[in-house]
Amino acid sequence: MRVGDLGGAVGARPRQGAGATRRVTTQEQEATGRRWAPAYRAHCPRCRNSGRAFSSYSNAEQAAQGHADKHYHVTHVIDQYGIRVIGSTRHPGDENGKAAP
Ligand SMILES: [Zn+2]
Repeated sequence: MRVGDLGGAVGARPRQGAGATRRVTTQEQEATGRRWAPAYRAHCPRCRNSGRAFSSYSNAEQAAQGHADKHYHVTHVIDQYGIRVIGSTRHPGDENGKAAP
């Protein structure tokens, strides 16, 4: 039984001592080259415009709310993939997300 050759290397392994003897696969290169810090940004479908990226969701949500209030647009928050975050829709005048569903 071989140990250390089990699959599922998701890059969670500490990379200490990963010397020259170790082959780096393209999968690993992707995993290490990509930053996994989450990014959220306010997105307005009306303006088709996204705000700056925030590392915290609440900041992006505030930005979305600010845009909604300022421009009277329905805005939402998207994640780093550009996918809308569920339940992040901000309506003009909706202050603390107390909009009834
Ligand atoms: Zn807008």
